[in-house]
Amino acid sequence: MKASRFFVSTLKEAPADAEVASHRLMTRAGMIKKLGTGIYTYMPMGLRVIRKVEAIVREEMDRAGAVELTMPVVQPAELWQETGRFEKMGPELLRIQDRHERDFVIQPTSEEVVTDIARQEFRSYKQLPKNFYQIQTKFRDERRPRFGLMRGREFIMKDAYSFDRNLEGAKASYQNMAQAYRRIFDRFGLTYRAVAADSGAIGGDLSEEFQVIAATGEDAIVYCADSDYAANMEKAEALAPTAARPAPAKALEKTPTPGKSTCADVAELLGMPLSSTVKSLVLATDKLDAKGEIVGSQVWLLLLRGDHDMNEIKVSKLPGLDQGFRFATTAEIDDHFGCKPGYLGPLNLKKPVKLVADREVAVMADWTTGANEVDFHMTGVNWSRDLPEPELVADIRNVVAGDLSPDGKGTLAIERGIEVGHVFVLGTKYSKDMNATFLDEGGKPQFLEMGCYGIGITRLPAAAIEQNHDERGIIWPEAIAPFVVVVCPIGMDRSADVKTAAEALYDQLKAAGVDVLLDDRGERPGAMFADWELIGVPHRIVISDRGLKEGQLEYQHRRDTEATKVPAGAAAEFIL
Ligand code: ATP
Ligand code: MG
Ligand code: MG
Ligand code: MG
Repeated sequence: MKASRFFVSTLKEAPADAEVASHRLMTRAGMIKKLGTGIYTYMPMGLRVIRKVEAIVREEMDRAGAVELTMPVVQPAELWQETGRFEKMGPELLRIQDRHERDFVIQPTSEEVVTDIARQEFRSYKQLPKNFYQIQTKFRDERRPRFGLMRGREFIMKDAYSFDRNLEGAKASYQNMAQAYRRIFDRFGLTYRAVAADSGAIGGDLSEEFQVIAATGEDAIVYCADSDYAANMEKAEALAPTAARPAPAKALEKTPTPGKSTCADVAELLGMPLSSTVKSLVLATDKLDAKGEIVGSQVWLLLLRGDHDMNEIKVSKLPGLDQGFRFATTAEIDDHFGCKPGYLGPLNLKKPVKLVADREVAVMADWTTGANEVDFHMTGVNWSRDLPEPELVADIRNVVAGDLSPDGKGTLAIERGIEVGHVFVLGTKYSKDMNATFLDEGGKPQFLEMGCYGIGITRLPAAAIEQNHDERGIIWPEAIAPFVVVVCPIGMDRSADVKTAAEALYDQLKAAGVDVLLDDRGERPGAMFADWELIGVPHRIVISDRGLKEGQLEYQHRRDTEATKVPAGAAAEFIL
């Protein structure tokens, strides 16, 4: 490819709403362009990356025996009503109507459609197992789209669906996919972890997430360095032994000093020290009156996960906080802090507590609190003065670094990850709802056993950048770089020697199957180098008159701090 014919468009400034490196750099490198909230154009430079991600995924899916098809983006609501998801999915599901006022959805995934295909196509056990996949546009009306392609509303997903005769077969299909995923993520050259995830009604180890390790990841993952235990936080908390935590429903023995205590002090007193994943305490309620006072009995005590230190949160960000701490609604918490609140076990504060996070103050007395929705928020929190003590909710756990791992082989560590893939055994949930059966050897109808397997195609490049960048820009892993080699001639318009040498090398690399770009735009060296460092092309060759006189070119890998001189005739061999 020649740069003059391609489209190279870089920006000095990152957009104001870009909070993470991948969003900033993909925008600055001209890879994506925002059209609306969570909706992006994949510009030519970005599309090359996406196509490479797709190609690897496609190759490995085919190798694993999956068969590609493409299902419609716009799907009739009737199918979604059969499984109840048309109602159940809530606002994340985008519903639209056609000119006849018939309901449709824009696919967030495609279990319904693929099950509809299966019930028509699979008549006999002889046709099984089968795995269908597509690489297709998805739409989810995310409550908080952010981080560019990381959490878009419109995005590309590879979704695969397996069909088997029995649960044993479904488990084998699942293992086959999990293996394929390992090959896929190995090929991307990223540091990742496969972690156990909650598999809902199925149970067992039948759901795993593939998490790319990155400090900016939205998920907390728990692992043991001394064994192969790894799980996402939800799963880890569901499994954590009760004994690992002190019984939570205890009166405080000490009272935080009014006016002086910080979140950390209070958390310490509650026996839930703030940790690397739990950093601040917020009191919240959904029911406030016009004056911002609590109405009714719902008070939530939230531990915010992630790097959200109350001390750093600008008072002005939360309306009303300038008057001191007040109760925030959970919607506000989510909007302003952009993270899922964690939860505390039931509490029973017998003494007045004054929470002070720098300058926010809340005075409370005699209250208890508990969580009943795992890793989301706390409900069932009451002023205990005139209400009975809430029941201890049995599954409330809090996993912190240093806990003994469930296999007993070591202690747990916690790190952050970006969910790039998810494999899941579905069982017969969809086939029962939609009456998708096949005839077994005895001629008896049986429900199909299903599995589903997703990869965030457009999230993957963003995750790769979170792991691979520096102050100058992106550093693409070779497998998904938009171009693998860039040839940068200096003064190509002035020097026939440079032009000849650059074009010869370009032709030679192209002939050898190297994904090479010749920068023939006539940019000055500084601007040209800055562009390719920002865009993140792994290998760069500079051709100049001065070098040619010595019979040399300059080679530099994107991670190198200095260029290496290479004999002009040997540049292709040097790279290949
Ligand atoms: P998350 O927990 O990040 O919301 P999810 O669990 O809802 O993701 P799945 O339903 O498991 O997502 O979808 C399969 C894959 O699709 C995910 O592992 C992720 O890589 C990708 N994905 C999901 N939502 C988005 C999104 N809003 N933008 C980009 N990719 C996404
Ligand atoms: Mg989601
Ligand atoms: Mg998830
Ligand atoms: Mg998932």
